[in-house]
Amino acid sequence: MVSRTIPVDPFDLVLFGATGDLARRKILPSLYRRFLAGQMPDTARVIGAARSELSNEEFRDLVREALAEFVSKAKTDKAAIDAFVAQCSYIAIDAKGDGGWSDLKQMVREDAIKAFYFSVAPSIFGALADKLRSHGIACDNSRLVVEKPFGTDLKTAKKLNADLAASFREDQIYRIDHFLGKETVQNLMAVRFANVLFEPLWNERYIDHVQITVAETVGVGGRGSYYDKSGAMRDMVQNHLMQLLCLTAMEPPAAFDPDRLRDEKLKVIRALDPVPLKDVVRGQYKSGPEPSYIEDAENADSKTESYIALKIGISNWRWKHTPFYLRTGKRLTKRMSEIVVQFKETPHSIFDRDDGSTANALTIRLQPDEGIDLSVTIKEPGPGGMRLTNVPLDMSFADALGADDAEMPDAYERLIMDVIRGNQTLFMRGDEVEAAWAWTDPIINAWEAQGDKPKQYPQGSSGPEEALALLLRDGRRWRDLED
Ligand code: NAP
Repeated sequence: MVSRTIPVDPFDLVLFGATGDLARRKILPSLYRRFLAGQMPDTARVIGAARSELSNEEFRDLVREALAEFVSKAKTDKAAIDAFVAQCSYIAIDAKGDGGWSDLKQMVREDAIKAFYFSVAPSIFGALADKLRSHGIACDNSRLVVEKPFGTDLKTAKKLNADLAASFREDQIYRIDHFLGKETVQNLMAVRFANVLFEPLWNERYIDHVQITVAETVGVGGRGSYYDKSGAMRDMVQNHLMQLLCLTAMEPPAAFDPDRLRDEKLKVIRALDPVPLKDVVRGQYKSGPEPSYIEDAENADSKTESYIALKIGISNWRWKHTPFYLRTGKRLTKRMSEIVVQFKETPHSIFDRDDGSTANALTIRLQPDEGIDLSVTIKEPGPGGMRLTNVPLDMSFADALGADDAEMPDAYERLIMDVIRGNQTLFMRGDEVEAAWAWTDPIINAWEAQGDKPKQYPQGSSGPEEALALLLRDGRRWRDLED
């Protein structure tokens, strides 16, 4: 299947934090891949900005090094890289200082789309937004892209929203959650809302429960002391897993339009039940073979979780009796992200239950091997009587899209192009982020008030035993991470 690539309009993207880790690992390689695909026109420009004093040539060398390290060999074409870096330039600027802003104003063009990407610590978002507006660099149709974390609680998120709102309108602000840029996440919406098959069954009458898992094999490694101030609830659940829950649980929007879609997600967040501590399991990985969480965090008294599992209820007509179980953790047995929609058993079986029938499950795999499969029960082939077996109806996107497209575009590629196209559908709105924190804060406050200590779990496991018990208690099981 050949996908169409439509070039975007000419743009100037000012990348604040251009010398940082995220710019080198994700943003610059993503821009290059879109350039290679013909989507970034040769009239587009990338202007790197950070405090370091670099010449244009030194910055271009940095871009070349980033591409050599983070773009696959198959896509590193010397002529294309030369052409791409020729469209990159650099300005040394301090978000908190007064120098350089009039130079930056001269660099950006009036007649191109202007996008300002804040790949910097949130503590300087407000200062940057203010400088761009007060120096007349940003205008009414400029776009602003901001990275996570968007706050550490409701209070800080509100402050960030207010700081940005002082200089930019909400329809200019693009809050990145890279999970929303994944092909499968958008396919979840296509599967639900472009097929007649699932929507009639998509409710508490037919769905027993939903499991959302984001499992990582890596630890917190070099960013241990940073992570220790955050933990899995703030770092993963409040944003990424919450977005997956919303897209699974939301009502069909009246149109695939940014605000209508985000209105529906917001309604889900507002319908989430408070979560009592008995429905939360937190863990920390033990030592062996790699250092323990405590060692990585360099904090012997740390009570921060590197793993969390929660049972969440949604108080609305669609989901009243269907729990959503979420789990995410580090140093687990497998790197894997998926949503499993577990349907109920048939109301009555005409077959012997022991013959192997199980309830249907729709699995939306985000990684690895993005795709969707539906498990159905069929008769086992052969003359051995009416024995049943489960087979997956599997749609791996790599297979379905053909070998040429097997290397799926990175989420950042799609999201950056959406910014240039002015499409906010896959970005979080300010009220959505605040509602997510308003639900998260009381859960964190409750475990902090109780002095709750995370349970220890072995590296390479599925997490703490207590997380298994969270589902067993309800007569359910987590999907095996090894499957
Ligand atoms: P980083 O490696 O520490 O880079 C920070 C960048 O900001 C550098 O380019 C730095 O360059 C620049 N900077 C710092 N202070 C500045 C100032 N006062 N004025 C102008 N520029 C300034 O951080 P990062 O890992 O790239 O992360 C950037 C943002 O993305 C953070 O909000 C982070 O939470 C978020 N994020 C990162 C990742 C990731 O994988 N790295 C993933 C998701 C989200 P100079 O020192 O030269 O000024």
